[in-house]
Amino acid sequence: MTDTILAAITDEIGRQGPMTVETYMKRCLEPYYAAGNVIGVDGDFTTAPEISQMFGEIIGAWVLHVHQMMGAPASFNLVELGPGRGALVRDIMRVVSLRPDTERALKLHLVETSPELRKAQRMALGQRDAVWHDDISSLPAGPSIIIANEFFDALPVRQFVARGGRWRERAVGMQGDGLAFCDIETADVPAGLPGAANDGAIAEWHQTGQAIAGALAHRLATDGGAMLVIDYGYEGPATGDTLQAVRAHAHADALKAPGTADLTTHVDFTQLRTAASAASASFAGSVSQGEFLSALGIGHRAQKLAAANPHRAAAIETDLARLVSPDAMGALFRVGTIYARMAAPPPFTSGN
Ligand code: SAH
Repeated sequence: MTDTILAAITDEIGRQGPMTVETYMKRCLEPYYAAGNVIGVDGDFTTAPEISQMFGEIIGAWVLHVHQMMGAPASFNLVELGPGRGALVRDIMRVVSLRPDTERALKLHLVETSPELRKAQRMALGQRDAVWHDDISSLPAGPSIIIANEFFDALPVRQFVARGGRWRERAVGMQGDGLAFCDIETADVPAGLPGAANDGAIAEWHQTGQAIAGALAHRLATDGGAMLVIDYGYEGPATGDTLQAVRAHAHADALKAPGTADLTTHVDFTQLRTAASAASASFAGSVSQGEFLSALGIGHRAQKLAAANPHRAAAIETDLARLVSPDAMGALFRVGTIYARMAAPPPFTSGN
């Protein structure tokens, strides 16, 4: 499998010259996620909903609140982008079903490319109905609440390298028998890249992420609703190379054994905001994950869970700290919302 992906990439470079970092990420990520066994202790990385049920429960409470803020439409789409093993949607639905009117009003739509992860999502949902989509283009019209946790960081990005006051596109070529970074001329330099940068500085452009955020923002602007984005990220414009590979919970070389490690980049929330505004939707945030979850009462939820499960109290405390503490996921992960046709921004992404 590894050798096949490497051989295909090497062959493509041999025929066409260096491929952009964006193309390289695409060639690696598609087979990587398709294989499926990537999330959790036996996989390569762990996500917030896999750490604790509290994460999804708090987002479930957020969904209930936003549905009310939207005027409680009698029918709406609850969409998750990249649901992984389905832990988040399962925990969200457990809370949402506490309000039968909201539960009745919603139709569940999951956007997922990986056949293996779709199976895991089906299992996690039990008897509950859902419709799966290969991409966002087949999502139905109508008011929507959209959730994306660690989705945007899994999309390919374009990288640029500053050379003599101009931006060149970062690419992957051959050096001897191995792959190596290089840079190539491009006529298509995005206007939104940072201005002056020192020679060798790298900037990232989330072209795919912006297109998805923009299309969904347009849907929200037309039909109403909100999208919650939670990811390892920052506010741009900024320079820096955030491309990283993780295999079996440890850092790996992004150019070795392509397709067998998770490749991610940090999300530039400013680029998502720009995409939302261009589609006439609003953006709130970003705030830190710690602030967001705490404002929604995760501390209180932890106390209740611990009181009901005294033998697990210490573990619950540890999980809480992992999710909210600034030296764990609390500060590195950020939260933003794209919303439209609502009187106020959804809680709590703008200090509201
Ligand atoms: N949200 C989950 C999983 C995050 S991993 C969690 O928090 O646990 C990223 C997820 O996005 C995986 O389910 C992966 O298969 C999916 N994914 C990656 N690229 C995708 C794409 N282009 N379209 C749809 N899903 C994608």
